[in-house]
Amino acid sequence: MSFVVIFVSAYFFDQGKDLKTKFLLSTISTVNILIFVYSFYYIRLFFLKSKRFYKTILISLPNIIGAFVGGILFMLSFKIGERYYEFLDYFLEQFATGISIFCILYGIKEWYKIDYKDYILVAIFLFVQYVISTDSIFYACFIFPFLMCYISVKYKFKEICFLFGLLAFICSVYITIPLSGEYWNQQEIYMLSKISSYRLALGCYLIVFLFISEIYSRNRQLNYEYKRMMFCDELTGLKNRRYVREKVLEKYIFQDGYILLLDIDDFKKVNDKYGHHIGDLVIKHISNLLIHFNLENKIISRWGGEEFLIISSNKTKQECIATCNQILELCNKIPFGKENIKIHATVSIGAVSFNSFDSNSYEKLIQEVDRCLYDAKGLGKRQYKYGGTF
Ligand code: GH3
Ligand code: MG
Ligand code: MG
Repeated sequence: MSFVVIFVSAYFFDQGKDLKTKFLLSTISTVNILIFVYSFYYIRLFFLKSKRFYKTILISLPNIIGAFVGGILFMLSFKIGERYYEFLDYFLEQFATGISIFCILYGIKEWYKIDYKDYILVAIFLFVQYVISTDSIFYACFIFPFLMCYISVKYKFKEICFLFGLLAFICSVYITIPLSGEYWNQQEIYMLSKISSYRLALGCYLIVFLFISEIYSRNRQLNYEYKRMMFCDELTGLKNRRYVREKVLEKYIFQDGYILLLDIDDFKKVNDKYGHHIGDLVIKHISNLLIHFNLENKIISRWGGEEFLIISSNKTKQECIATCNQILELCNKIPFGKENIKIHATVSIGAVSFNSFDSNSYEKLIQEVDRCLYDAKGLGKRQYKYGGTF
């Protein structure tokens, strides 16, 4: 069916070639299409669950394979070696199309982030490079790649893959349109071959940008994972002690606020009676209460096993004490429950106010709040101990 359509259209519209060549080219195109369609179908069926990057490679792969097989047929139909460059040319062009499809699919989610002015800018640069490269001295000029570098940095690479993919693809379409038309005159042949080499050049740039883009996004992902592992507590999702020590002091200015150190009462008994798994869930339960409790300008961190540290800025002593009472009340009111287990987990709180929480006062404040917590435990637990301002 594909063959018939291609051959009939070539027969009627492409008068520049003899019957044998038309037949041959139609066969190649048909094989190309069949390989593309079938491998696309099976690849989708079996591999679509894999990651996006590999998915995209797999989806554009059929075109490249198709180009390869088509090219080999092309080559075999002439004497091998005699017109090998046509095979190479054909293959490279199809390869560039494959890469451009790849890039479009890879960046498609992000395409809307590209400012329309940048589309225009890229088109203008492409055109300028095309025009000035009529002089062979300028043929390999780099103004366009420079613009690409600038825009890649601006868009963090991923979106740019879409943009370049689109350009390369438009070039491909432009080249293929006249195939169904009349004879080409010398001027057209010259222009088409030039656009075709542009497409190849764009294909090469695309490969480079694609890899940079992939390395960049993986790096970003790794960086994100690394930060999460360094600064977040796995069980509760809260920030950890390292975060408070390294980042809070660096990133925030806390003034005239308070620090609370909470410790779950008799937690060992929970572990002993119900097991560590339930113990973990109780820790999560308390952390959820704290997260949903409306504290303004606050940092909540998991300080240790079943201890939490809260830092809040611009708060009076009265507000600090009110918060302690509210937390105690909340823990009383909402017990932990799972299936038929119900645990009234309570906390003890050490509380201090500060004028400034910074690297100079850090050690002292932590010591004081710890001492207050210790006192609250000594006084019978389920209560807060306020230690004053430091
Ligand atoms: P107190 O009222 O004096 O605080 O008594 P406590 O039993 O809570 O004593 P303490 O604070 O010293 O005990 C902490 C226990 O918490 C010890 C440890 O086994 C347990 N623990 C620490 N981290 C975790 C955790 O991530 N999961 C669970 N299930 N238990 C933990
Ligand atoms: Mg403890
Ligand atoms: Mg405890």
